[in-house]
Amino acid sequence: MRATLPLLTPSDFPAIARRAIETLQVNVGYRCNQACHHCHVNASPDRSEIMGPEVVDEVLRVLAARRVPTLDVTGGAPELNPNFRHLVREARRLGVRVIDRCNLTVLNEPGFEDLAAFLAAQNVEIIASLPCYTKENVDKQRGDHVFESSILGLRKLNALGYGVAGSQLTLNLVYNPLGPLLPPAQDKLEADYKRELGTHFGIVFNHLYTLANMPIKRFGSTLITQGKFAAYMTLLRSAHNPANLDGVMCRSLVSVDHRGHLYDCDFNQMLGIPLVVAGRPRRHVSDLLSGAIDNAEIAVAEHCYGCTAGQGSSCSGALA
Ligand code: SF4
Ligand code: SF4
Repeated sequence: MRATLPLLTPSDFPAIARRAIETLQVNVGYRCNQACHHCHVNASPDRSEIMGPEVVDEVLRVLAARRVPTLDVTGGAPELNPNFRHLVREARRLGVRVIDRCNLTVLNEPGFEDLAAFLAAQNVEIIASLPCYTKENVDKQRGDHVFESSILGLRKLNALGYGVAGSQLTLNLVYNPLGPLLPPAQDKLEADYKRELGTHFGIVFNHLYTLANMPIKRFGSTLITQGKFAAYMTLLRSAHNPANLDGVMCRSLVSVDHRGHLYDCDFNQMLGIPLVVAGRPRRHVSDLLSGAIDNAEIAVAEHCYGCTAGQGSSCSGALA
C-alpha cells in the first residue's frame, strides 16, 4: 500500500468553519466480507479492528447527552461487529435516526439471515453501495459474484418494504465511478438506475447518491502505482466549486473510530488526521459530553477537493 498523505499536504484548500453536530458517524470497525478496489477504508475479511462494548456505550451516552439527531454507522461492514445490534437498538430507543452503511452482500452471509428483518424492525435507514446496475462493472470493482449477491440483498430489503412507495423504510443507493473520473449528474443517473434495476430485476429504491472516489488508501495507492495520482488531483482541483463548501459534511458531522477517537470526517480518519481542539489531537468521543469541540478547526488537505469537485460529494450524495 502506497502512502497518500505526503502527497496531500500542504494544501491551499479553503478553511471551513464547523456548525452544530447533527450527525455522529461511527466507524465500528474495518472488518468486511468484501475487499473492494476503491475502498477508502482498506476494509477486508482479514481486518480485526472493531469497536468494543465500552466505546459503544460512550457513543450512546453522547447521543443522549448532546441530543445528536443522527447516528451514521459505517465500517467495514458494520453489521459484522457483535455490538452492532445493541448500538442500533439503544440509539433508536433514544429516538435517534440511525443510518446503516450496508454493502448488501452481508445480508446473505451465514448467520446473518435475520439481519434485514432486524434493520426493518428498528426502522433503520439503509445506504447501500451499488457502483453500477450491470454485473460486469460491479464485479470488476467489488469482486466476483458481488452483483448477484447485491441483487439478492436488495430483493430481501424490498420484500420487507424498503424503498417501496408509501413505506417508511428508506433505501438509498450509492454510486462511485469505476476509475479516476468525476461522477455523472446524480438525477440523470438515478433515473437510469431506477429504470434498469426495475426493468431487469424488479428492484425499487428511494434515491441514488453519487460520490467521487477519494484519492486515499486503496484507491489512492492504485492511482500512484498506475501513475495517475497527479492527473486525478488536477481533475478534482480544476472542478472545485466553491459553492459546495457550504455543504461539506465535516461542518455538521463528527467521525468516531473504533477506539473512540475523533476526526473531522471518515476520510480524515482513514488518513490518520485527528480532530484537534486547543492544540490537543486525538480527542475521545467522551469529550463530546462536555461539548469541547464546538470551536475546533477542521483539518483540510488536498483530498478535500474530492468533496467539492463538480456537483460535490457528501455522505448524502451530491451537494450542488
Ligand atoms: S463493501 Fe464497503 S467497506 Fe467493504 S471493502 Fe467494499 S467499499 Fe470497503
Ligand atoms: S475530506 Fe473531510 S475535512 Fe475535507 S472537506 Fe471533505 S468532509 Fe471536510
